[in-house]
Amino acid sequence: MKYETVIGLEVHLQLATNTKAFCGCSTKFGQRANSQVCPVCLGFPGSLPVLNEEAFRFAIKVALALNCRIQSLIKFDRKNYYYPDLPKNFQISQYDMPLSYDGFIDINANGGTKRIRIKRVHMEEDAGKLMHPEGEDCSLVDYNRGGMPLLEIVTEPDINSPQEAYDYLTKLKSILEYLRVSDCDMEKGSLRCDANISLRPKGEKKLGTKVELKNMNSFKGVRSGLEYEEKRQESVLEDGGKLVQETRLWNADKAVTASMRTKEEAEDYRYFPEPDLVPFVVDKNEIEEIRKALPELPEARGARFKKEFALSDYDADVLTSQIDLADYYEACVKLYPNAKVVANWLMGDISAALNDKNIKVTELGLSPEGLAGLLKMIDSGAISGKMAKDILAESIETKAIPEDIVKKKGLTQISDAGAIEEIVKKVVEREVKTVNDYKGGKKTALGFLVGQVMKESKGKANPGKVNEILKKVLGD
Ligand SMILES: [Zn+2]
Repeated sequence: MKYETVIGLEVHLQLATNTKAFCGCSTKFGQRANSQVCPVCLGFPGSLPVLNEEAFRFAIKVALALNCRIQSLIKFDRKNYYYPDLPKNFQISQYDMPLSYDGFIDINANGGTKRIRIKRVHMEEDAGKLMHPEGEDCSLVDYNRGGMPLLEIVTEPDINSPQEAYDYLTKLKSILEYLRVSDCDMEKGSLRCDANISLRPKGEKKLGTKVELKNMNSFKGVRSGLEYEEKRQESVLEDGGKLVQETRLWNADKAVTASMRTKEEAEDYRYFPEPDLVPFVVDKNEIEEIRKALPELPEARGARFKKEFALSDYDADVLTSQIDLADYYEACVKLYPNAKVVANWLMGDISAALNDKNIKVTELGLSPEGLAGLLKMIDSGAISGKMAKDILAESIETKAIPEDIVKKKGLTQISDAGAIEEIVKKVVEREVKTVNDYKGGKKTALGFLVGQVMKESKGKANPGKVNEILKKVLGD
């Protein structure tokens, strides 16, 4: 490729506080429209905002986890613009002095590690939500979301491919989930991502004309939108055309981007300091307290899993990518210490079921105790590995405990040598021809005989034992 792709990402994260950023209104999702509003978040004259302390602490937590420096003086600004979902005509945000800056996230790229610098993490409030009912000659507005606490997390233009953008977002989400500061649910809009993308000839220092991409509602959507935009810009440049600085919307159904508007510049917003919120100095001790209370983050946990449980890089990465999965894994290993076996089940059948049902491990009917019980039944010979897979599937489907399924269905494997020998003898008497083939040197005939014994036992005989006893009976 003649061109180098340059991407910067802007993530908006809704913080999971109980109340809004500057008033006491509830942040509960899915409530009746305009039922969670007050004079402050509606911007009535004379109302005064008060900073939500929990939102502020969450913001510091994120900033520290993203390796950012914290601003010593916290100041808020008004970003002025008119839009029907913004009754105040301004948004409280942070302009020239963001809460934190100069951080980074390391991602895996090209077989190594690549550092994506984080330019700033700042606090702001969300706007309301406009709805355009189909077939109606009107638009509706719900101000419940207005004033919700948001963090804006902005990278430097360090990302050089749509895949790197995807990997950065995945890593960022993983860290944010570990911090438990947001539900990070893209479908609910708790996590949103806009992207800036430009192309420049390889070796060129100056950045090309950038396009802002919006309306991507999944990480895969971000990657697809950027892939499309990368190709579109390349073909414009190849044809000797000029790109315009604009905002384009990703249309997932048609898989194209379309121009929405030319981009506003910061000057258009007439930023000025928010006069109703007095700047304040952050207590260094408070920051240190938050730093000390940070949980073990994905990278550190992955390193520990490798050491403690002798897992491969890949296994450790997958198991620590989601905090709930990592917690579930550790709970299982406490109950059933063969860490590798637990990892295989979690990353195999259980992950497949989670993907299939599109649920999280916390929503799985099978508890760590249930899984440990299942694995112990395999070890004791009570059930076979094949039976365990079926029991697992049923347990996930019905939320029944594996041991109970085995008891209820009488699924216990037959490991008793006497009982197996009886079935073996019956099969040997019946299958005279195959037995003679076997004795005549056709060793593959044994497989058929094992199959017959398994069938006779309705799949309950322990296959290892069947093999052993068959050979004995056949005089091998
Ligand atoms: Zn309010």
